[in-house]
Amino acid sequence: MTDKPKVLIVGAGLAGCLLARLLGRTGHDVLVCEAREDPRESDHAGGRSINLAISRRGIDALERAGLRDRLLEKAIPMPGRMIHDTLGKSTFQPYSADASHAINSVSRSELNLLLIEAADEHDCIELRFGMRCSNVDHEEGVVEFTSERDGSTCTEQADIVVGADGAGSAVRAAMERANALESTQDVLEHGYKELTIPPVESGPHAPFAIQPKALHIWPHGAEMMIALPNQDGSFTCTLFWPYKGERSFESVQPENVKEFFRLHYPDAGALMPDLEQEYRENPVSLLGTIRCAPWHVGRTVLIGDAAHAIVPFYGQGANASFEDSVSLAEHIEQGADDLPRAMERYFKDRVEHANAIADMALANFLEMRDHTGKRWFRYKKKLEQFLHRTLGDRFIPLYEMVSFTTIPYDRARRRAARQWRVVSVVGACILVLLCMVVYGLAMMPDLLFANGPS
Ligand SMILES: Cc1cc2nc3c(=O)[nH]c(=O)nc-3n(C[C@H](O)[C@H](O)[C@H](O)COP(=O)(O)OP(=O)(O)OC[C@H]3O[C@@H](n4cnc5c(N)ncnc54)[C@H](O)[C@@H]3O)c2cc1C
Repeated sequence: MTDKPKVLIVGAGLAGCLLARLLGRTGHDVLVCEAREDPRESDHAGGRSINLAISRRGIDALERAGLRDRLLEKAIPMPGRMIHDTLGKSTFQPYSADASHAINSVSRSELNLLLIEAADEHDCIELRFGMRCSNVDHEEGVVEFTSERDGSTCTEQADIVVGADGAGSAVRAAMERANALESTQDVLEHGYKELTIPPVESGPHAPFAIQPKALHIWPHGAEMMIALPNQDGSFTCTLFWPYKGERSFESVQPENVKEFFRLHYPDAGALMPDLEQEYRENPVSLLGTIRCAPWHVGRTVLIGDAAHAIVPFYGQGANASFEDSVSLAEHIEQGADDLPRAMERYFKDRVEHANAIADMALANFLEMRDHTGKRWFRYKKKLEQFLHRTLGDRFIPLYEMVSFTTIPYDRARRRAARQWRVVSVVGACILVLLCMVVYGLAMMPDLLFANGPS
């Protein structure tokens, strides 16, 4: 036993396990209770087969837990986007002026497994599986659980209860029932469905069917598909399509999906032997943004998607959740003598940044599906990278700040807007000067003539 506060974490997902590991390293007693079965025993890690792009923020957070190298061993770096057009032609767009900057594709279930194993390395951390949280007494720090195996119930008590139980958080619901927070949920008119491009035996990128060192995008305006590489040579493709309308999950039925792909995703469709079966069998899942405030009441506090679920278009949900884990661990460590105040500080430190990345993720959806395929977009990215190379830290593109620095999200967003204002004003001044020079040159013969020999 230690004299540090005992922490009960609900949810052994990404944020919960990282927080456990960080607190375990500083000697806290931590109990982690997870609704799913232990993925180490059940042969699959549960959850969807999503793969994630982990960028600088996530890597930094994992580094603090001594897990950076273990993460990178499981990851495939993606230094840019590969844009596919409807004729099957593809164009590479680097993410950064610095060719060494890459986001990293990693399987969410493998990353979760890594984190569960890392948490379990500490004697002061106990992990229990098959326990679903059903209610929380925030003042007493008592959590009620129902066993997923036999329906029996039990309670656990701690000094701090952390809701790390994802977008559908039961802990957040308990806070709402106690009128302790307000939340909003905005569901997108687009859902997502996963498909696979399997490995190949031969070809220029074998075992990968297409270039592995890129995040592939098929941008089609109202609908799009992306694909991220996996270490076994496959790609996880995700369709982001509207539920209804002309080109939607409703209008494209399994019987005609092959024809639809032949017309609109010809290069990808040719690499998907199980397209019809996967399209029929794989579910369409919801996408949305959840915001709430405050993230704490009594002894309870929220982290990760439980506090701020965002749409996945900036690839930052897990990265932001990892930042929460680091921030909360630091506040708990430093503010142990006044835990309610420590939780309030944590909330105040994080909330505006969570809101900022939620907005940027929504904006990036439009950018990915509508703009990435356009020529002006490529020129804009080239201009940004030119300005960054020329001006260094005086001009850092927004994508660069979000993905390859740890500048807090809201600060990055404000700074990007400020930079563009300056560039626009300077650009306009240069244009005016150029016009004046051109006008002056055009007038030169007249002036010479006017001042010529009389
Ligand atoms: C399609 C898609 C693509 C994405 N791509 C990216 C990406 O590229 N980059 C990125 O950074 N992020 C991405 N994300 C977001 C990322 O997956 C989440 O932000 C991240 O998983 C949040 O971590 P978390 O620990 O808060 O929640 P979760 O990972 O959801 O973990 C919550 C845990 O709580 C458990 N749980 C739930 N309810 C209970 C209960 N009542 N009692 C006990 N346990 C419970 C769950 O079983 C789970 O283990 C993507 C998300 C989606 C949907």
